[in-house]
Amino acid sequence: MNDKASSNRHISPAKKREDGRLDGLMRPQQLAEFTGQERLKANLAILIEAAKGRQEPLDHILFHGPPGLGKTTLAHVVANEMNVNIRITAGPAIERAGDLAAILTNMRAGDILFIDEVHRLGRAVEEILYPAMEDFVLDIVVGKGPGAKNVRLKLPKFTIIGATTRLALLTAPLRARFGALYRMDFYEQDAIETIVMRGASILQVPIEPTGATEIARRSRGTPRVALRLLRRVRDFVEVRAQGEITGETAVAALNLLEIDQLGLDDLDRRVLRAIIEKFGGGPVGLDTIGASISEESDTIMDVVEPYLLQLGFLERTARGRMATPHAYRHLNLPLPQHVLVGKPNQPSLFNASGSDAEGDEVEE
Ligand code: ADP
Repeated sequence: MNDKASSNRHISPAKKREDGRLDGLMRPQQLAEFTGQERLKANLAILIEAAKGRQEPLDHILFHGPPGLGKTTLAHVVANEMNVNIRITAGPAIERAGDLAAILTNMRAGDILFIDEVHRLGRAVEEILYPAMEDFVLDIVVGKGPGAKNVRLKLPKFTIIGATTRLALLTAPLRARFGALYRMDFYEQDAIETIVMRGASILQVPIEPTGATEIARRSRGTPRVALRLLRRVRDFVEVRAQGEITGETAVAALNLLEIDQLGLDDLDRRVLRAIIEKFGGGPVGLDTIGASISEESDTIMDVVEPYLLQLGFLERTARGRMATPHAYRHLNLPLPQHVLVGKPNQPSLFNASGSDAEGDEVEE
């Protein structure tokens, strides 16, 4: 994902280098240790149990949802539960069909290949992947020119686990080859609290439950954000307090980071303000919003928009994004008459006219 703009955000769910170092330490290893996503876990447990019972490799799995929710972590958990090797790669890293062929020919039966950002695989690579996923064969061309020959290699039965933040960008044939599709949702407050408490015990930082509550409240339902805020709060209490995270010290640290009660930071507020102040509340296309505040529309789509939608601050219409009355209220901005027709608190009563902004594609 293009993460130029969000790389300085404490609440960005996108991965940073610092996270990479700690991810291994923080990752739950087994399904039972993995907090939240209960329905998904129940489904996954059945899939794993059934495959084990039949002594077969797992079906190909696709996880989709916003960044930082645990797609990579779950892929590792699945590998541990199945007791198989996992190899990690990402769509943009597999540049040529030959790269993929090299990976696949080195897999052993049952092994898992995790492909992050699977929607970013190139055309040629995808075409090699179709028969590989479906029939476990690799069609390659040997030689060049008139003497070139098509050769079909048999592959061991392996499992692909794909992850994507943009299901809508996955091609239909690729999507169809995943036997199990799982959507990851933002976590509930109590699940994030548990994740923060567990993270604190791994980092060996003393924490009161009220401290975990405050951190969780501003983590936008995202474990990666929660663990990052935990580390920033730990820094704060080490320097300014006695090293213990309490409700009070957590709030002081988070206020200093300018993360508000709902976990919104400066970029979220700038996006909302742009829609409201520059485009009359919308509808306005993401590219237009991005250009107006000099941010990448990819960043806004992957990182900002999903959480604002979840909060009910944004509405996605065929003609673009609209700010809801909740957004006006959160930013303490007056609700203009043309935005609200009728009763307050009912985003569906929006008057969609009054903007000439282009409507960009509605995803999913
Ligand atoms: P994604 O692949 O969806 O971007 P990751 O799997 O890399 O997300 O998870 C981001 C971070 O959050 C990791 O450090 C991981 O350990 C942690 N994490 C994710 N989900 C959970 C969970 N359910 N319980 C505990 N930690 C989690």
